[in-house]
Amino acid sequence: MAKRLQEVENIKKPIGWDGKTLKEMRQEIDQVSKETGHYAGLTDLPFKNSDPIRFEKIYSKLRGGVVHARETAKKVAASPIVEQEGELCFSLYSPEADSIVTSTGIIIHVGTMGAAIKFMIENDYEDNPGIEDKDIFCNNDNHVGNVHTCDVHTLVPIFWEEELIGWVGGVTHVIDTGASGPGSMPMGPVQRYDDGYQVTCRKIGQNDTLSKDWLLESTRSVRASKYWTLDEKTRVAGCHMIRDLVLDVIEEEGVDAYKKFSREIIEDGRRGFVNQVKTMLIPGKYRGASFIDVPFEGLDLPKFAQQDQIMHTPSEITVHKNAHLEIDFEGSSRWGWHPFNATPVSITSGIWVMLSQTLVPNDRINDGAYYASDFGIPLGSWFNPDDIRSAHSNTWHALVAGWTPLWRGLSRGYFGRGFLEEINAGNGHTSNWLQGGGIDQYGELSALNSFETAASGVGASAVKDGISHSAALWNPEGDMGDMEIWELLEPLVYLGREVLPGSGGAGKYRGGNGWQSLRLGWGAKEWTMFVAGAGAMATDCGLMGGYPASAGYRFTAYDTDLKERIEKKLPLPLGADVDPDNPTYEDNMNAGRLYRDRQAVSTQEEFGDYDVIMNYLRGGPGFGDPLDRRPADVESDLNERYVLPRYAESVYGCVFTEENGEYKVDLEKTIQKRKQIRKDRLSRSTPTKEWMKQEKQEILNKNASPQVQNMYAQSFALSEQFTDQFKEFWELDEDWMVYEDDFDVTKLGRHINRFDKETIS
Ligand code: MN
Repeated sequence: MAKRLQEVENIKKPIGWDGKTLKEMRQEIDQVSKETGHYAGLTDLPFKNSDPIRFEKIYSKLRGGVVHARETAKKVAASPIVEQEGELCFSLYSPEADSIVTSTGIIIHVGTMGAAIKFMIENDYEDNPGIEDKDIFCNNDNHVGNVHTCDVHTLVPIFWEEELIGWVGGVTHVIDTGASGPGSMPMGPVQRYDDGYQVTCRKIGQNDTLSKDWLLESTRSVRASKYWTLDEKTRVAGCHMIRDLVLDVIEEEGVDAYKKFSREIIEDGRRGFVNQVKTMLIPGKYRGASFIDVPFEGLDLPKFAQQDQIMHTPSEITVHKNAHLEIDFEGSSRWGWHPFNATPVSITSGIWVMLSQTLVPNDRINDGAYYASDFGIPLGSWFNPDDIRSAHSNTWHALVAGWTPLWRGLSRGYFGRGFLEEINAGNGHTSNWLQGGGIDQYGELSALNSFETAASGVGASAVKDGISHSAALWNPEGDMGDMEIWELLEPLVYLGREVLPGSGGAGKYRGGNGWQSLRLGWGAKEWTMFVAGAGAMATDCGLMGGYPASAGYRFTAYDTDLKERIEKKLPLPLGADVDPDNPTYEDNMNAGRLYRDRQAVSTQEEFGDYDVIMNYLRGGPGFGDPLDRRPADVESDLNERYVLPRYAESVYGCVFTEENGEYKVDLEKTIQKRKQIRKDRLSRSTPTKEWMKQEKQEILNKNASPQVQNMYAQSFALSEQFTDQFKEFWELDEDWMVYEDDFDVTKLGRHINRFDKETIS
């Protein structure tokens, strides 16, 4: 009898609502939402409709409080990535991990933190290790659904009496995760085991106190432990502020009202999203494709990873007549031995960041939108690897490129409906990532990851130019940070910061320009540096006649004579090197070894005092034909040094004079010049049918680089649908095909191959 009683006592009471387990709650919500087409089966919003002011009051209190928690908590951090750039975000969830309200910032993590909580529910954390009031959990496991290892989640359950009322999650982008390369998004990792310290939804604290073993292990596992620690305090502080806020609201409104509110606000978010789709888009299919280079041949990596490849991401948006939104990525490239892989939740969640700036530009951003849309994410593709070995440290390289056709597709819809301000020709590819680490100028083990890229150029809209050096797709409140702050923390002195004329795409409205900074190694005891960018390919393609933004390049110089030059007060390479075809840095510096090339990714190399490295930040794509740009705007661009003079003439067709650095466009001559350019375009062009005939012959002859052919071979191997579409479009014979085996590439990790009957899955 005593034993039986003991057993009964050991069975924990479920922590969910009405005596249910979290798993039961999760299953119920999924089922009823699917069956009814409404979140939690809410065909009505009784609370909102009967007491709208009270409903909005609760919403405003929570939303305001969550934003406030972010603004306050970020002051705890010392990392400029968090404190200066705002690379953090907080979100409040239902017990089943559906987001109710979210802060500003890197809201891609509304989805990833939700995925982490769902993982805990799925794996019965309620039983073991247990979910109790004042527990603290941590996750940064890429394969649970994180974006990359450096986005570290703190997750805190919120209890009211004995019941779990919800969760709060906070994320910061930390400086280092102890990966095979220093910095938060290193080049070097090609497998999960190189990506650094990964914590899989672990209970790291109880009674609001972080465990000693966690504090010791985590700080011994990363390089910049001081920043790691303060980042963690930031996340815990924000989560606890939000927990207090929720408990205050419940105290005031009652737990039943809070529960009703938390359900209805998500259904309200879903309805809001559907309304916006109806208002702003036109039913139909919007198709596009994106490409990005992976130039790994000859890098310091395992042999099987040393391959030059192209990552291919075709996409198709379907806007259904009932405003259901579907995005399908069928035909995307295989995952690979590089750090640019992603998880399904990171490619889908990131889309909301952009949609929250265009399609749903209000603050009711929650998981309602998730219930109003569907995604096609092919298994085995680079954003759904079928192998836990995939590396993810620099997933943004591919994500930013992969999304560009989506913005263009949605923008075509906005254009059709007349929402010209919401149009976005695309976003700057947010690189370079200038990174490194070692023993810094204070003698401490540290790392750096320049987040200047959070101030890239933005794409043009249909009514105005994109904003220059201002923001990044993934953080709409981006900032370049103060030079003095970066210098305080990094063993690199600024030689200059310079706007890059013409780095934004040309157009009737041009893309915002990018910029560059030149850094001089200074004071580190031991240091290595590397860059991660896209140099061989432009990753966007402008909209409605607009041009793509320029691709980047690498500039690094070792063993320079700058020490001597400084001592002798000779000219130094201080900015003004803004035209890669007419370089000037080299005029004012000698170097033992210098790279100025399109190899915009590299692995760690020793970097000493007086070595020089450039951070190249990109512009956004343009909108509309550059020949339609107002000559007065081109004149202003010339005078503001926002366009290189030779492109003002060749691309914009503007004829101008220059006197003492002052440019003046000649209107008459410009009209004539533009007429001539239009004539030249016609005489150069070929009717589409003609061009397709020529192109088809090239396909039949397989006349393309091995990288392009292998890229298609991967898409063909993963997708029958893509293969059929490709063949139908080009009217190819049944037996025409390219196979991955035709190329000298690794066979490792190629599990899914529909041409191989035995490994089909
Ligand atoms: Mn991140």
